[in-house]
Amino acid sequence: MNTRGYVAHAPSAQLVPFEFDRRELKPHDVAFDVLYAGICHSDIHQVREEWGPSLFPMVPGHEIIGVVSAVGSEATKFNVGQRIGVGVFVDSCRKCENCLAGLEQYCSEGMTATYNGYERDTTTIAFGGYSNHFVVDEAYAVHVADTLDPAGAAPLLCAGITLYSPLRHWNAGPGKRVAIIGLGGLGHMGLQFAHAMGAETTVFSHSASKAEDSHALGADHFVVTSDVDALKDHELRYDIIVNSTSADIDLNQYLNLLKLDGTLIIVGLSGVPVKIEQGLLLEGRRSLSGSQIGGVAELQEMMDFCAEHDITSWIELVNADNINQAWDRTVASDVKYRFVIDASTF
Ligand code: NAP
Ligand code: ZN
Ligand code: ZN
Repeated sequence: MNTRGYVAHAPSAQLVPFEFDRRELKPHDVAFDVLYAGICHSDIHQVREEWGPSLFPMVPGHEIIGVVSAVGSEATKFNVGQRIGVGVFVDSCRKCENCLAGLEQYCSEGMTATYNGYERDTTTIAFGGYSNHFVVDEAYAVHVADTLDPAGAAPLLCAGITLYSPLRHWNAGPGKRVAIIGLGGLGHMGLQFAHAMGAETTVFSHSASKAEDSHALGADHFVVTSDVDALKDHELRYDIIVNSTSADIDLNQYLNLLKLDGTLIIVGLSGVPVKIEQGLLLEGRRSLSGSQIGGVAELQEMMDFCAEHDITSWIELVNADNINQAWDRTVASDVKYRFVIDASTF
């Protein structure tokens, strides 16, 4: 299927228009017209090779919402005309312990990423969601409620699930204190989820200008991280702290804010190794952990949770020819709180 999108041809290159073919439908595939694609900071990290070598040409995008246009001969999960969402991976081995447990994001063979990697055939470069058409195996796509604003729902496919999954895993809820470091695309979703789950919530931000929005998104407390005294007031308070920043920050100043048995979860991935003061972990039997997106079943659960609680991303809609500018503004933490591309402009 002839497809238009935006591509980076080399590391750190500007994105430019690109035409390519999507595969013909296999029996379990669905094709869809993309409505909206979110801009995740991971798109930027990968084109700029901040996590190591990448694969080019690269069509980024793993927060994809569309409307089904065709279904394969044996596909049963979607009907033509229904809304559909695709996130960070489009396949996995389907037989390892983790895949069988619905944790495809931790597939022992490695998940098949939506872009910046090869499809399961190991030779075709996977092109992501910055494009007007998409083809995916139905098992790796989710339903999106018609009641959700589709543009605001696109970022749920990565930013949303990346915060929803650890908050569920570490049991955020009533009686728990949850802090989110960084109010970006991921952070502002985590804040809404933690609040909806019933936890007491705090935002730690390096942007003083985000205080008002934080409270509107459900924060009980807002702390500017340059205020060392204010941070001290939060020592020994938290059950869960999630670091969602894209930058290399000192995590040690947050470990002390955890109470006994509290957990600091890393989801932000600057690509820079961190140095931890081990004593801070020993003192309160604290844990330092990481979490990566979520499996297909949990992605659907989160979509349904969002429909039930009327949660979507706060977005700024851009046309395809503004992608490069939107990337620069994302790096400058100047987006409220996710750029989403209108796919009709590809
Ligand atoms: P984003 O929208 O750019 O948000 C990142 C936030 O980090 C900013 O809004 C800012 O929040 C904070 N920040 C940025 N520069 C900073 C600096 N120099 N010092 C302190 N704080 C700074 O990015 P995103 O799309 O949410 O992604 C965040 C990170 O998560 C990225 O590294 C991304 O690759 C990663 N990620 C991980 C997963 C996963 O599965 N674990 C999934 C998706 C993305 P404040 O202005 O509030 O300080
Ligand atoms: Zn992402
Ligand atoms: Zn597997």
